[in-house]
Amino acid sequence: MSLSEVLRKKNLEKDDIVYLLSLDKSASEELFEYSSSIRRQYCGNKVFLRGIIEFSNICRKDCYYCGIRKSNKNVERYILAQDDILRSAQYAYHSGMGSLVLQAGERNDKWFVDFVSETLEKIKQLSNGKLGITLSLGEQTEETFARWFEAGAHRYLLRIEVSNPDLYYKFHPQNKIHDYNLRLDSLYTLKKLGYQTGTGVMIGLPGQDLADLADDLLFFREFDVDMVGMGPYIPHKDTPLYTSKELLMSDEQRFFLSLKMVAILRIMMPDINIAATTAMQTLHPFGREIALEIGANVLMPNITPSHRKDYFLYENKPCVEDGVDDCLPCLENRLKAKNLKIEYNLWGDSLHFKNKRKINI
Ligand code: SAH
Repeated sequence: MSLSEVLRKKNLEKDDIVYLLSLDKSASEELFEYSSSIRRQYCGNKVFLRGIIEFSNICRKDCYYCGIRKSNKNVERYILAQDDILRSAQYAYHSGMGSLVLQAGERNDKWFVDFVSETLEKIKQLSNGKLGITLSLGEQTEETFARWFEAGAHRYLLRIEVSNPDLYYKFHPQNKIHDYNLRLDSLYTLKKLGYQTGTGVMIGLPGQDLADLADDLLFFREFDVDMVGMGPYIPHKDTPLYTSKELLMSDEQRFFLSLKMVAILRIMMPDINIAATTAMQTLHPFGREIALEIGANVLMPNITPSHRKDYFLYENKPCVEDGVDDCLPCLENRLKAKNLKIEYNLWGDSLHFKNKRKINI
């Protein structure tokens, strides 16, 4: 079967995906051209914005790859004051971003759960219900997810990180608070409660092969996900996984592989939201724009007011020195060059979620 025949198959199977993931630079041009055409067909030239506020780096987990893991003593821990979060939300609202992502390390104590609920309510108030809110706060009980939904969140991002359970435990301690099944159950709970549900993985982890990544893409389709955020793994020197640095593909290869993942996913699930992640930009100065061109449709400018340097998931995270006001004009210019256009003042919901609803009604 030729490449163009594979691309046009109704349902890509594992072998097809592995083949597409292994395409070299010149052969991948046809993949990218095709995925761009699907992107244009389903998402036009639109880019949806979510201002992301990384409001705390306090985390109860100890994931082997993550710079804000609990055991990393070289991090100054913070949680933003509610007023600072609200000011950033106000900024997102007035600058027309349409939506917010509230992200933090994982914790589930009562104080935190209450704090988030109250913050959600206040954001809804200050924007007359007009700002869309996505949460990315890890695994929680059904009761907590339901409370936050009531309080105004309507989308939730929870990366499965690695969809194969055996491989999952190479990158996470095997214990009660890093339980693969709990993470998976959380995803199903979110879906059941009516959240637009997003997940994702890291790409280019040591020991992960193309068949594993193909399984990740099949997992997204099987779960019938509404949104995906995935990006290259980037080593952080204060983490246990750093010692496997020698096993990694080069930065360029991990970036290229991540682009192929985005392109293939757009072909497999043409109406979902796919984020052009910050990690893509870390490995390539125009990484996010290229990802948007070949398949992604969501961009998450960082609007965290302070402490950006302490939310260091990985090294060389971009834009940590920029002020929030520098961000939109810079993005506008970068996107114009790719004939892409920011859609202001919209929630930018997942078309897939809406289409599913239509079928079910
Ligand atoms: N606590 C939240 C999100 C916090 S971190 C949750 O669990 O959902 C956001 C994402 O950063 C993680 O889901 C992970 O996929 C990514 N990340 C963490 N360390 C990384 C690294 N070293 N390289 C690339 N991505 C990383």
